[in-house]
Amino acid sequence: MALEELNNQIYVCRKCRLWQGAKHGVPGEGPINAKVMLVGQNPGAEEDETGRPFVGRAGKFLTKVLAENGITRDDVFITNIVKHVSPKNRKPFSDEVAACLPYLQMQISVIKPKIIVLLGASAKDTPRLEGIEYLEVIHPSAAMRFKNMEDTFTVQIAELAKIISKN
Ligand code: SF4
Repeated sequence: MALEELNNQIYVCRKCRLWQGAKHGVPGEGPINAKVMLVGQNPGAEEDETGRPFVGRAGKFLTKVLAENGITRDDVFITNIVKHVSPKNRKPFSDEVAACLPYLQMQISVIKPKIIVLLGASAKDTPRLEGIEYLEVIHPSAAMRFKNMEDTFTVQIAELAKIISKN
């Protein structure tokens, strides 16, 4: 299945309650042959407005740290565990994650990334598949708020850059 067709399914999806409070589905974006996929928890308010992933403050911070390590947004596919914003940006419920995970599974099978970066604890539900290297990092929204977490996050993204250079 092409990514565009998958995106169209996400835009009209009603498989869980989250679409009810959303303006836009946010499937994710990036090249179809991206070597690296980044997975976060859920779209926030700015992502819901624009239909694009990681464009708010945390997204800009993530983009900056990636760029400092020679990784541009054009190099990576960025998405979330669930594709619609949640009320007051709460953590998605387990039934919402379960309903939405097949989209992430399909994105992984189409894009076939070599590396998947899990942004924060909620991304740990991402399917683990053989042949893919997984890297767990702090969520950028936490990293931008606390200096010690920012330092750790910076080291983790530098590690990602090293892994990319070996692939
Ligand atoms: S969050 Fe996922 S499962 Fe729920 S309505 Fe949106 S696309 Fe469908």
